[in-house]
Amino acid sequence: MRVTGLPPYDPANIFARILRGEIPAKAVHEDDFALAFHDINPQAPVHVLVIPKGAYVSQADFAANASDAEIAGFWRAVGTVAKALGLEEKGYRILSNMGEDAGQEVPHFHVHIFAGRRLGRMVP
Ligand code: AMP
Repeated sequence: MRVTGLPPYDPANIFARILRGEIPAKAVHEDDFALAFHDINPQAPVHVLVIPKGAYVSQADFAANASDAEIAGFWRAVGTVAKALGLEEKGYRILSNMGEDAGQEVPHFHVHIFAGRRLGRMVP
C-alpha cells in the first residue's frame, strides 16, 4: 500500500530511463539493488547520485514498499560508493529531496553525495 502523498511513480522519469539504459549515465557503481552515477550538473567537486533499482518515489515509499534486501542493499551501496571514492577521509554529505517543498526534480528516490570541498553549514 502506498504511504506517500507524493505523485505516483512515473516510469518515464529520467532515472527510470537511465536504469533501462535508454539514456547514458557516468556510472561509478552498480549492483543488484542500486546504481550510482555522476550528477549531470555537479554542485560540488564530487556530486554522485545513488538510486535504488526499484520504482520508488520517496524515502517513505521506499521504506514502506521495498523489501529488506532492497533497503539494505541500497544503503550498503551508498557506503560502498563513499568508500570507493575515498570520501571517508575528508568527509562528505548525503542529502535527499522529497516532494515539492524540497524541490525534488526527479520523482525516483535518490540520495545525493557531495564531497571534495568544505561544504559549508547546512541550511533548511
Ligand atoms: P533532485 O532535485 O533531488 O530531484 O535532484 C535531481 C538531480 O538529478 C539534479 O541534481 C540533476 O542535476 C540530476 N540529473 C538530472 N538529469 C540527470 C541525468 N540525465 N544524469 C545525471 N544527473 C541528472
